[in-house]
Amino acid sequence: MAKDFSLMIHGGAGTFAKVRSDTDAAPYFNTIHATLEEGRRILAGGGTALDAVETCCALLEDDPLFNAGRGSVLNADGRVEMDAGIMDGATLAAGAVASVHHIARPIVLARLVMVRSDHVLLGGEGAMAFADACGMARVPDAYLITEAREREWRCARRAGDTLLPPAAEECGTVGAIARDCAGDLAAATSTGGVLNKAPGRIGDSPLIGAGVYADNATCAVSATGHGEDLMRTVLAKTIADLIELRGLDAAQAVAAGMAYLRRKVEGHGGVIVVDRIGRCAAGFTTPRLIHGWIECGGASQARI
Ligand code: ASP
Repeated sequence: MAKDFSLMIHGGAGTFAKVRSDTDAAPYFNTIHATLEEGRRILAGGGTALDAVETCCALLEDDPLFNAGRGSVLNADGRVEMDAGIMDGATLAAGAVASVHHIARPIVLARLVMVRSDHVLLGGEGAMAFADACGMARVPDAYLITEAREREWRCARRAGDTLLPPAAEECGTVGAIARDCAGDLAAATSTGGVLNKAPGRIGDSPLIGAGVYADNATCAVSATGHGEDLMRTVLAKTIADLIELRGLDAAQAVAAGMAYLRRKVEGHGGVIVVDRIGRCAAGFTTPRLIHGWIECGGASQARI
């Protein structure tokens, strides 16, 4: 078991009310399986957990079905503002960006913050200047903003709603976590945030310990859901602490973490967790969590 790799990905927590049949679910399953297989190629070939989670997260950012990168939801001004974070469980190095725009793959920028800056989190125009300095191309609104997201935004504006769970039909944040064959863990999370959010609002995804966390001693975690709930419960680190301090495995820690989220803030969210020996677990307090996994080199599995 210890020599195998494990990988989990998610495409967000919410009701996904539009997914009513196998036909509706097919595009999600296709992307989940294709992304897992790309991760398998990296990890089975001896690649690092960090490379696997960055690549898987970037592939999900490219898919407009999900609320990250291309297909991000729009804020109250009708603009895209994205957050992303990545963490290396071997060293506890981490990088994150908040409120970035015109970036195709914010997770790639988050990794650059980790490896090329002295900081963990860069936000707004400072993060954009860093992206320019790294030579990262800016993409036009036409690439990031899809017709479906514009329609949802117009609807939300009419309703005067910030579509936070449980009202949100779809959240669609993405995440990837892995344990590589060397036993190293990594986690990545990327999002467009919540529909019709206030400009400048930052969620849990780029906050180390809230929406993303990895430590070889315990687990890798990516969270999704109502960011304000996940921040107030520091959910990803809470789950790692449950493993470290109570000796729980991944499934037990997920169950305890979801109970904690409910008890403390009646929170809406979900997590995926890979523990230090590669066990995979997922849990959610929302109606659905789109996710998939490869446990210890086994077959790829997907669930909505
Ligand atoms: N957690 C994200 C945020 O609040 C949204 C989501 O997971 O769908 O920004």
